[in-house]
Amino acid sequence: MHTHDVVVVGAGLAGMRAAIAAHEAGVDVALVTKIHPVRSHSGAAQGGINAALGNETEDSTDNHTFDTVKGSDYLGDQDAIEILCGDAPGEIIQLEHWGAVFSRHETTGKIAQRPFGGAGFPRTCYAADLTGLVILHTLYTVCVKYEIPCYEEYFVTELITDDDGACCGVVAYDMVHGTIETIGAKAVVLATGGAGRVYAPSTNAHASTGDGMSLALRAGVPLKDMEFMQFHPTTLSPSGVLVTEGARGEGGILLNNQGERFMSKYAPNKLELASRDVVSRSEATEILEGRGVNGCVMLDLRHLGKEKIMERLPQIRELAMAFAGVDPIEAPIPIRPGAHYHMGGVHVDSWGAAPHMSGLFAAGECACVSVHGANRLGGNSLLEAVVFGARTGDAAARFVHDGNGNAGAAKPEHALEYEKKLRGLLERTQGTPQHEIRDPLADMMQEKVGVFRNGDDLNAARKVVDDLKEKVPTMVISDKGRTFNQSLIHAIETGFLVDLADCMVEGAIARTESRGAHSRTDFPERDDEKWMKHSLSYLEDGKVRLDYSEVTMTKFEPQVRTY
Ligand SMILES: Cc1cc2nc3c(=O)[nH]c(=O)nc-3n(C[C@H](O)[C@H](O)[C@H](O)COP(=O)(O)OP(=O)(O)OC[C@H]3O[C@@H](n4cnc5c(N)ncnc54)[C@H](O)[C@@H]3O)c2cc1C
Repeated sequence: MHTHDVVVVGAGLAGMRAAIAAHEAGVDVALVTKIHPVRSHSGAAQGGINAALGNETEDSTDNHTFDTVKGSDYLGDQDAIEILCGDAPGEIIQLEHWGAVFSRHETTGKIAQRPFGGAGFPRTCYAADLTGLVILHTLYTVCVKYEIPCYEEYFVTELITDDDGACCGVVAYDMVHGTIETIGAKAVVLATGGAGRVYAPSTNAHASTGDGMSLALRAGVPLKDMEFMQFHPTTLSPSGVLVTEGARGEGGILLNNQGERFMSKYAPNKLELASRDVVSRSEATEILEGRGVNGCVMLDLRHLGKEKIMERLPQIRELAMAFAGVDPIEAPIPIRPGAHYHMGGVHVDSWGAAPHMSGLFAAGECACVSVHGANRLGGNSLLEAVVFGARTGDAAARFVHDGNGNAGAAKPEHALEYEKKLRGLLERTQGTPQHEIRDPLADMMQEKVGVFRNGDDLNAARKVVDDLKEKVPTMVISDKGRTFNQSLIHAIETGFLVDLADCMVEGAIARTESRGAHSRTDFPERDDEKWMKHSLSYLEDGKVRLDYSEVTMTKFEPQVRTY
């Protein structure tokens, strides 16, 4: 059995940034991750990270705050958004000092910034179209320098709580040795990333299965705003591979099958750089009304010229050629909206602490602070991961310094108990194969809980989820081995995905309005009187119970949202 002051589950941007902050605050911190740190989905982030540096413009953190509040369709908590935007410039400089190589402005040599959706100024810092990869590798080198221990290829399966209900560690499957381990901790930080794989197709890595959200949910902690799934406007068909918003930031335009630049109808001022929910709905409308091309619309980059495409969007060119057979220097890329980012997550405060469980913290995409409300702006998620990663690591360390936490309550018996459950799954020979749950779930979510929703579809979705939920305890896997058993991992992940779909569907049925990414054709208006509130999903007796909490407003009154 292992014990640390702070255990951070997940080694993407949020997890590593949290571990670095905790280490710097003087506690014994360890990372636990199911894949190697630099394979975390953060490394797939292309477009950039926002900060009002004001290098070439009169931008300010107040502008960034307003854009984020408006982008969130006023559901974001304004005190938390002020922190996000206020800490942003300092975090970028810190990353740069640690060695992150950002692209530079051609004449001034300062960090360059590109325009992004929903932003009043060009404020997205970038490293060509490999921004996440560059930051991820930078943080990894800092973790190595600090000698922060990392349990690689450890899959966390359960949270451990003490008699008072406080979190005191985790149970994990060590894939390399095939054993189940207890890791005790005074504080646990969940940083397990998003849940994009609830949908198919998805821009997310196969590992983005929302594990941390489900671990918290099962331990009695509520998830917040689960009905809000972001559909990114430019994904390739059929793979779902992302084409960064940076492509539009650099000047790419969207065309329908008439060659019309259709965004002029939907967002006459911001056009392609309206916020993501607006652009995705516009594309979906064009496709539904018969002005698409084989279920897609076209993203045209040709006018940018070869030199700019090769310099600013080299990865996009490669992806378009590999996954759509199109060279964007020569021809427009067929794209469509695709499941991309989950605004919801573990309900935490602005220090990343879960108010419902002492000793539990969460940061990054698996957490809901909430800074993105009903719709996230591009470039704000990498930012959230580092800003709130740092705050959360710091808060977890303070929690330990203050004498809290009960790592000793985690015992080897916790691993043994899980071992029994695992054997049950490994030894079962009859039942439902995991892919017969996972695939229909993801296809159904895409079809019925997509860009546009309605009561009939959502109720049908609930039926499918209920049916699949019953099958989860009967799952069978064909690989009976102990080491590197990917079938086993997929089976456990499938259970997590079903939990999360359940919360998403229940939240979406209840929310009878349209706000941000949650767009109901049967309730097309935003209803501030009734629905200016966060939803909280609890799992009780295997069923989702909904409750609600207040939205924090500081400076900005809700307005009609146009771009
Ligand atoms: C293709 C793509 C492009 C994007 N581009 C941008 C962009 O340009 N700008 C922007 O701001 N945002 C972007 N985003 C969003 C952003 O990248 C993510 O929201 C952010 O990187 C999430 O970071 P994270 O640290 O929370 O999680 P991740 O980077 O996903 O890391 C999750 C970690 O948790 C670990 N983990 C998960 N489950 C378990 C478990 N059960 N046990 C142990 N470990 C576990 C994993 O091993 C991994 O280390 C993009 C997302 C995608 C998918």
